[in-house]
Amino acid sequence: MGRIHPEIFFFGAGVAEGRAAMRDLLGGKGANLAEMASLKLPVPPGFTISTRVCNYYYDHDSKYPKKLDKGVAKSVERIEKALDRKFGDATKPLLVSVRSGARVSMPGMMDTVLNLGLTDETVKGLETDSQNPRFAWDSYRRFCQMYGDVVLKLKPENKNDPDPFEELIDKKKESRHVTEDVDLSVDDLKELVQEFRALIRKRVGRDIPQDPNEQLWEAIGAVFGSWNNDRAIAYRKFNNIPGDWGTAVTVQSMVFGNLGPDCATGVAFTRDPGTGEKGIYGEFLQNAQGEDVVAGIRTPHPISVKAGKVAAQRERLSESERMEKYATLEESFPEVYKELLRIASRLEKHFRDCQDMEFTIERNRLFMLQTRNGKRTAEAAVRIAVDMADEKLIDKKTALSRVEPDQLEQFLHPRLDPRVEKKVIARGLPASPGAVNGEVVFSADEAVAVSEAGRKVILVRAETSPEDIHGMQVAQGILTARGGMTSHAAVVARGMGKCCVAGCSALDIDYSAGTMSANGVTIHRGEYITLDGTAGEVIEGRVPTVDPEMPSYFEKFMGWADKERRLGVRANADTPHDAKVARAFGAEGIGLCRTEHMFFESNRIDAVREMILAQNAKDRAKALAKILPMQRDDFVGILKAMEGLPVTIRLLDPPLHEFLPKEDEEIRELAGKIGTTPEKLKAARDNLFEFNPMLGHRGSRLGISFPEIYKAQARAILEAACQLKKKNVKVIPEIMLPLIGERKEFEILAADIREVADEVMKQSGEKVHYTIGTMIEVPRACVTADQIAAVADFFSFGTNDLTQMTYGLSRDDSVRFLQDYLDRGVYKRDPFQGLDASGVADLMRIAIERGRKANKKIKLGICGEHGGDPASVKLCHRLGLDYVSCSPYRIPVARLAAAQAAIESKQKKAAFKDV
Ligand code: PEP
Ligand code: MG
Repeated sequence: MGRIHPEIFFFGAGVAEGRAAMRDLLGGKGANLAEMASLKLPVPPGFTISTRVCNYYYDHDSKYPKKLDKGVAKSVERIEKALDRKFGDATKPLLVSVRSGARVSMPGMMDTVLNLGLTDETVKGLETDSQNPRFAWDSYRRFCQMYGDVVLKLKPENKNDPDPFEELIDKKKESRHVTEDVDLSVDDLKELVQEFRALIRKRVGRDIPQDPNEQLWEAIGAVFGSWNNDRAIAYRKFNNIPGDWGTAVTVQSMVFGNLGPDCATGVAFTRDPGTGEKGIYGEFLQNAQGEDVVAGIRTPHPISVKAGKVAAQRERLSESERMEKYATLEESFPEVYKELLRIASRLEKHFRDCQDMEFTIERNRLFMLQTRNGKRTAEAAVRIAVDMADEKLIDKKTALSRVEPDQLEQFLHPRLDPRVEKKVIARGLPASPGAVNGEVVFSADEAVAVSEAGRKVILVRAETSPEDIHGMQVAQGILTARGGMTSHAAVVARGMGKCCVAGCSALDIDYSAGTMSANGVTIHRGEYITLDGTAGEVIEGRVPTVDPEMPSYFEKFMGWADKERRLGVRANADTPHDAKVARAFGAEGIGLCRTEHMFFESNRIDAVREMILAQNAKDRAKALAKILPMQRDDFVGILKAMEGLPVTIRLLDPPLHEFLPKEDEEIRELAGKIGTTPEKLKAARDNLFEFNPMLGHRGSRLGISFPEIYKAQARAILEAACQLKKKNVKVIPEIMLPLIGERKEFEILAADIREVADEVMKQSGEKVHYTIGTMIEVPRACVTADQIAAVADFFSFGTNDLTQMTYGLSRDDSVRFLQDYLDRGVYKRDPFQGLDASGVADLMRIAIERGRKANKKIKLGICGEHGGDPASVKLCHRLGLDYVSCSPYRIPVARLAAAQAAIESKQKKAAFKDV
């Protein structure tokens, strides 16, 4: 038989007009039902109306394309013929489900109507046909409820508001003195149907149509309409799903899992979606409809005996107790179980991925209602990819493409125990992943005091600044009300591998009262909260966490990634500890060591302040001499941890006033320590005040004004290098100047460094090879890259500042309005998180081209936060950088993203050749 209508795709009963590859047109559900039908698997017959019709419906004032009505009628006839049933028939009625389905799964966001076709007439047919009046009236009752909810819009908007239908059921149960739905009699159900319809008449002024075709068209309209309900819109926005994709509508004949004890319904995965372990995994309910499994009224049973035994073991049940509580599908429906295994294996081989299947058993016959690639945890994603490659189901490149690079970070951090319930009180930015719990404290000093007493703390601040470092170091996690993904809290926390939720604007912090409140919940100092930095959630109380593991398949997977990638991956690390962690995660060097963090250490800050307040170069040099040995020790530690690998050390970057105290009390204290008056100190601080410090006296500008500072730092680096060289430790120091915008600036500072280097090497008698390069973070540096490259050994793109300066968008202040730009679609992503492919990346391209032209040997990298963002890493690959550098905990993420980038560009090239 030929096609009935160009926008209708029939499946089942030996026909499959669609294919899995047509998911854009048929939605995931419709496409895979068609594919299962083409594999001759038992799929109840039905048809899918394409997503194009959804767009037509919206563009034409809720009307349908020409002849769709006839096409639907003919398709229904085709189902009728296949099943020998009739829509609206009083003896053998056909019932259908009307299901939504977009090209990507949007779980629970859109609507579905089941048991459609039931009327006062057909319910009688169902009663005699099934020989089960209770089933027939229960189905009619469910249909009226769903129709009222979905088509006639009586479902309460708010989950906490009472559902009028559920209220009627509760009343009925009360009056019958029963507690379970199943204890209601057939007469009770008949009464409920009438009560539901009376309610509908009262609320919407009309009844449920008694013509099944009318029901069908109203339901189709409701499903298309649900594409644009508030939930679906919000979900799409959050997941970047375009509004013009539309949903398909699948009309499918019903099969019933609730006709009696020889019926069931369930969900099964071909592999465990939590651990990735091979073998069928899932749940089913005997004598039930699909929604019962989801609704959680009855506890579903495991599918396999193996899973049943595991569950029983957990609860210490005897074998007979297990049989009672966890009778499995394997035991209750042994033949069906075998068939399900066969189908599962067939589907997995066919789709070459772990499948998540919905099935129903009607009178011992198995029907497949859906299959899709199963959602899985990070752990399962990697394990399944590795196992499938080992089983030769997929090749290694495909295995690498199966895992979202971002997911890998979950292997490195503790996460919330998924079995424990949580109450989320506010959401912020997922600034640094992991999950932690601890007592709330509101200052860095408090954090230190409480943690010294042996208790875990979460540091809660409106925002953090370098002065909070000591608190951040001891805190389990950090929560801020302000600041974006490149705010101080976010960057530092990521570097430390500490969980952080930033920019949680719902948070109201009252430092003096020692409270934080959000969405009506107030937490006092000392009370527990839990942070999920992966999801950006703030949770009330203490939710337990589970420790990370790096299983052998993870190492194997990363090994495959390393073989594919061309980009080097380095770490942004400021301490020997971070360097060691980074190396363990696979870092091939340090791409950015920010030396200012070393200046903030509590035992050095006074010397640093003395240096800043010095009135002349001599006094400044004296103060610097106090810092030098400490910095040298840091560099010894870092260079040693990275033995044999390059270490890029950046000279001081932030404006000096950042190091001075702000509070009067601190100023008084410092004045006493360094022998000056608070007034003088205040005047000095005011003198350093800048309206716009980000564009002020920072970076290499400090080096130009105060050459002693950079010289002292260069000395510390080179003395450390010589000291290690003496001990035969292979060191590769790379000295980096920040914020260069002019060749002359670079030349002057590089000459200062070389002068110091010559001196140090002469004194120590060692010769160390070192290079001098620059960050590229000022647009002018990109444009004049040829001039700078002629004198520099390397460039490292500081895309945090480069983004800030390209957009003219403050890194610190833009969070206040960035959401508006995202909401209104001006930006697709926060440009501080995802590298701007057309603006910032274009400046980089110019710098790369001009830089390489002037200096063929120049090494090119990136060390802004984008270096750990998968999409940005891929862009860096395409731009032709030599390496990316990111915080230690992003290293596996960057390694995988770099591998995927290499694979994708090879595939693109191959495709281009084929043309
Ligand atoms: C940058 O600007 O991208 C960078 C890495 O430097 P910082 O974040 O320290 O300004
Ligand atoms: Mg910078």
